[in-house]
Amino acid sequence: MSTQKSYISTDIDFDREGKHIGRLRLPYSRNTSGWGIIPIPIAVVRNGSGPTVLLTAGNHGDEYEGQITLNTLIRTLEPRHIKGRVIILPAMNYPAAMAGRRVSPFDGVNLNRAFPGDPDGTPSQQIAHYVSSVLVPMADAIMDLHSGGYSMRMLPTAIIYRPSTPELLERVIGAARAWGCPLGILFDDLGERRTFDAICRDAGLLKLGTELAGGGTVSVEALAFAETGIWNLLKYFGVLVASPPAPRHPCPRSGPMRLTEITGPEAYVYATGHAIFEPAFRLGDEVAAGQVAGWQHYLDEIERDPVPLHFHKGGLVACTRGPGWIEPGDLATLVVTDTTG
Ligand code: CA
Repeated sequence: MSTQKSYISTDIDFDREGKHIGRLRLPYSRNTSGWGIIPIPIAVVRNGSGPTVLLTAGNHGDEYEGQITLNTLIRTLEPRHIKGRVIILPAMNYPAAMAGRRVSPFDGVNLNRAFPGDPDGTPSQQIAHYVSSVLVPMADAIMDLHSGGYSMRMLPTAIIYRPSTPELLERVIGAARAWGCPLGILFDDLGERRTFDAICRDAGLLKLGTELAGGGTVSVEALAFAETGIWNLLKYFGVLVASPPAPRHPCPRSGPMRLTEITGPEAYVYATGHAIFEPAFRLGDEVAAGQVAGWQHYLDEIERDPVPLHFHKGGLVACTRGPGWIEPGDLATLVVTDTTG
C-alpha cells in the first residue's frame, strides 16, 4: 500500500469521549462542484479504554439492509452501552449508496475490488485507501455488512473469509455464531486479493462479513437478524457492557449455525444465454450434482425449447439470481456444502 497520506479529512476526533456524528471529507473536483467534497457519513462512540470495533455498510450501494442497520445503530448506541470505541460507516461508498447502485457513479469502481486503495486514485480508490490506512489500523475487530444487492438473493448468512491462522479461524467462527444467522459460509472469493476481507486477512485481523437477502429489496427478516446480530457482535467483541435496547423486530428463531463452505468454481452456476431464468429450486433447498438448476427461456424464439442449466455440485442453495432477466456470465445460483474440517 502507498505510504502517501490520504487527502480525506474529517471533523471527527476519534479519541474524544462520547458520541460524535460527522463526515469524512473527500475532495472531489467535478463539473458541478469545482472545490467540492464527497461527504461520507461516520459516527464514533467512545467510552474509556477498551477494544475498537469498526462497523461498515454500503460497501456496495445497492445492499440496503446493512445501511439501515448501521443507521439505526448510530441513533441507538450510546456511550453508556460500551467500554471502548465503535466506529460506524453506514454508507462506506457514499456515492454508490446515494445512487442505489453497486458501484460508484463517479468512477464506475466496485469499492470491494479497490482495496488496499490508492490515495491518488479515483474516489472509490481513495475511500479504500483511507479505510485501509486510517480506520483498519485502529480496529481490533471489523464487521462489513453486505447483502445480495440488485442482482442476487441470498440466505441470511455469516460470511467468513478464510483467515491465515487456525486460532483466528476459531475466533471468526465464534463471531459468526454470535451474529446469529442460521448459515455460515467459509470461502476465499476464488482467491480475490482486492477486497476489504483480503486486506483484513493479510493484517491478521478479526473480520466478519454478512449477506442479508438482497434482490434490490429490504427484507424485514434480514433486518431482524442484523439489528439483533450487531448487538450480539458488540458483546462478542468485548465492548458491550450494558443491555441493548429492545429490538424493533424480534429476531427469527434459528438453531445452531450450519457451517458450510464454497469449495471452488464448481459451486457456481452461470448463465449461458440472454434469456429469462426460471429457477428449479428455492433458496435453502438441498440439490444434487447434475440436477437441473433452472431453465433459460427464449421468448424471441418460441419454437426453441428452454435451455436447462445444471448444478455442477450438490449442496445447499445459498444464492440465486435476483432479476428474472439473465445474460451470459451472470450468476444463476450457488451451492454451499458442509465443512469437512
Ligand atoms: Ca456485496
